[in-house]
Amino acid sequence: MTHFSQRLAQVQERISAACQRFGRNHEEITLLAVSKQHPAAAVREAAGCGLRSFGENFIQEAVEKTRALEDLQLEWHFIGHLQSNKTRLAATCFQWVQSVDRQRIARRLDAHRPHHAPPLNVCIQVSLEDEPGKGGVREDDVRPLAEAISGLPRLRLRGLMSIPPPTPDLEAQRAYFGRLRRLRDDLSRDGLALDTLSMGMSDDLEAAVAEGSTMLRIGTALFGPRTRTG
Ligand SMILES: *Cc1c(COP(=O)(O)O)cnc(C)c1O
Repeated sequence: MTHFSQRLAQVQERISAACQRFGRNHEEITLLAVSKQHPAAAVREAAGCGLRSFGENFIQEAVEKTRALEDLQLEWHFIGHLQSNKTRLAATCFQWVQSVDRQRIARRLDAHRPHHAPPLNVCIQVSLEDEPGKGGVREDDVRPLAEAISGLPRLRLRGLMSIPPPTPDLEAQRAYFGRLRRLRDDLSRDGLALDTLSMGMSDDLEAAVAEGSTMLRIGTALFGPRTRTG
């Protein structure tokens, strides 16, 4: 086995164990491989092990990779902070943008989504910090943004995404993820059909599985440490 396939087996084992412990079905959880700062060759190897969905944080880096790997027909998710002057590239090169946190970005993505392509899948990034800073809307502002996105024809609102503040404690991790799940449930009850809860990274995937995650965004546990920070 290669390094990558060993790491992948370990991650799948962690997900399976968490599913068993918390009564979840592994099949309802998508593994998004976060390939930021790793070269196209690493993504090609991951695809060779059966992974189809990849997450990137930096537009320019991602555009180069999507072009180099066009033959593989992968599904690309933008998960980083999106500047409004990059919305055209994001709407063209990605199938998903998970980090929508303001109406202006949503409107620009809608305007730039190519007409030959299906609607762009989007998630709203929610900030669960007491003092939001790193991007994401506050919980109170999620509903108006969700309603605005629902009115944009070239976007398809799929769900919510969050990066909670790091904590080593399982119960504290669960408390954050539980807030995101309840927010999703409230919106769904009011008629916004959201099928995606994008939560859980290398260090907190068990808590995310426990709280109903449908998409785990895993970088380090799959690809190893990144050379630069970000
Ligand atoms: C980098 C990143 C991840 C992956 O984090 P790891 O701890 O390396 O698994 C997931 N989500 C977002 C938004 C990221 O920026």
